[in-house]
Amino acid sequence: MDNTNEMYLEFDSDSKNESFARTVIAAFVSQLDPTMEEIADIKTAVSEAVTNCIIHGYNNQAGKIEMSCAIKDNEIAITVKDSGVGIENIEQAMEPLYTSRPELERSGMGFAFMEAFMDKLEVVSDKGVGTTVKMKKAIKH
Ligand code: ATP
Ligand code: MG
Repeated sequence: MDNTNEMYLEFDSDSKNESFARTVIAAFVSQLDPTMEEIADIKTAVSEAVTNCIIHGYNNQAGKIEMSCAIKDNEIAITVKDSGVGIENIEQAMEPLYTSRPELERSGMGFAFMEAFMDKLEVVSDKGVGTTVKMKKAIKH
């Protein structure tokens, strides 16, 4: 029998919603009975993706962020999407320590953390259209 469960959420691009998104993903993944460490990893990855939408995608202006999550057996797939400025060079953007906003004291480690804490990371982006970050993690506990 296939064991799937999906949810979808749309919220405003506002730094107040970083902790909201972290809490929602922790609550949703809890049905897989993850360890504290697995929960912390997923919360961090989602936080980094949402923060990127707010700061880079929408440059702190108004916008909508969509988060969709799908559980299939013991794996969670998370998509975080903005309809902001998009990324011109994805390969460069994903390099550890690369940031386009050093003046904001960003460290350029967001994608590196997402990659480290999740099993799979994929970034799809078009300039002027927006950015979609897809992540997957198997819950092993
Ligand atoms: P940190 O996450 O350490 O605070 P950072 O956000 O600059 O710094 P990353 O999260 O790794 O580092 O992102 C690298 C770069 O990719 C960003 O500086 C930005 O140029 C680009 N980027 C990331 N996410 C988006 C997005 N949603 N929309 C547009 N550009 C993005
Ligand atoms: Mg970042």
